[in-house]
Amino acid sequence: MTSSKDLATPYATLPFCQLQKLARSVLEHELETIRTGGTWKGERIITSKQGPHINVDGSRGDILNFCANNYLGLSSHPQVVEAGIEALKKYGAGLSSVRFICGTQDIHKDLEQKLAKFHEREECILYASCFDANAGLFEVLLGPDDAVLSDELNHASIIDGIRLCRAKRFRYKHMDLNDLETQLKQSQSSRMRLVVTDGVFSMDGDVAPLKGICDLAEQYGALVFIDECHATGFMGPRGRGTDELLGVMDRVHIVNSTLGKALGGAAGGYTVGPKPLIDLLRQRSRPYLFSNSLPPPVVGCATRAVELLLASNEIAQSVGAKTMRFRNKMTEAGFTISGSAHPICPVMLGDARLASLMADDMLKLGVYVIGFSYPVVPKGKARIRVQISAAHTDQDIDRAVDAFIQTGRKHGVVS
Ligand code: PLP
Repeated sequence: MTSSKDLATPYATLPFCQLQKLARSVLEHELETIRTGGTWKGERIITSKQGPHINVDGSRGDILNFCANNYLGLSSHPQVVEAGIEALKKYGAGLSSVRFICGTQDIHKDLEQKLAKFHEREECILYASCFDANAGLFEVLLGPDDAVLSDELNHASIIDGIRLCRAKRFRYKHMDLNDLETQLKQSQSSRMRLVVTDGVFSMDGDVAPLKGICDLAEQYGALVFIDECHATGFMGPRGRGTDELLGVMDRVHIVNSTLGKALGGAAGGYTVGPKPLIDLLRQRSRPYLFSNSLPPPVVGCATRAVELLLASNEIAQSVGAKTMRFRNKMTEAGFTISGSAHPICPVMLGDARLASLMADDMLKLGVYVIGFSYPVVPKGKARIRVQISAAHTDQDIDRAVDAFIQTGRKHGVVS
């Protein structure tokens, strides 16, 4: 038997050091590959609160921010912040527990009820993030006799969630209803089938053809799931999401979404859907059962954001005109903007290095945008993803367009 004395000798530690050295060189090689490939993702440090105007470490003065998912400008909304402070004072910093042990407060139940009401679904379950909601859903709902049919460009968290479940997997071409129908025909022997799609795809800002998907699902007897992270709060007349926008709220069975984008931007995710499903998730969903409750200040902020949206449709509508101003002006200037009317406005550039260089130059002009490249988007489809917020003024948008024109001319993207 090895004694602790033996472990302390140089002989025992030498192989481990060599191993460490080897592991370090493997990692460094991998990092160098990313750097030389031009796909390195740096992190800029913000020294103010989130909003359309921010301070960024290393850049002087006020920077215009065009890359947050702060679609409705609620991340620093005074009422949202105040609600977080009140919840912190009344309910404390956190629960030190998962929900089923001693981690459920009245505010968690209240937020779940409000979210179910907002989405017009029977029940809601909160998670620490939508990544967790996606990781925890499919394994509970689908077994080996079932099938999942997933859009090839679904979010990474959906892909990971599906990997964890034992259902048969069918991947259909991006937003391609013909291919979805082919897969539905091929999966006909399965007990239960679930069609899975992002409502809005975050890299392109394109909206899933939900009406066609629901028609096919009904024809072939499948259920429909949508991830509404980039839709909740502002898509559709009352901001309920793409299902409201496309008139299929009563035909989509399960919705996952986030509290970390339009709904105050703090953190948290959730599933809304039929009561038996939500009850089963509370019993079996691993990220729910084995991870801490949402902290009270986060619950307080999100609850206020949902209350604001339930009280008036005005906030939900506040980002549309600004989005079109940016899209129209950029298109007139000669840029290619992907997607249609969504506040995600990807300025398509193709080359990863160009996207990254242009984003750096934009920051020098006081506009914070980010270049996206492989593996976040396919190779050769690098872009700068601009995101419009209701909190941007028309002047902010015009300043961003001017900076794009100046930078685009420098790099030969526009004339
Ligand atoms: N689904 C989609 C489509 C997303 O864009 C994101 C976030 O980037 C997530 C899920 C994960 O959301 P969260 O940040 O709440 O984990």
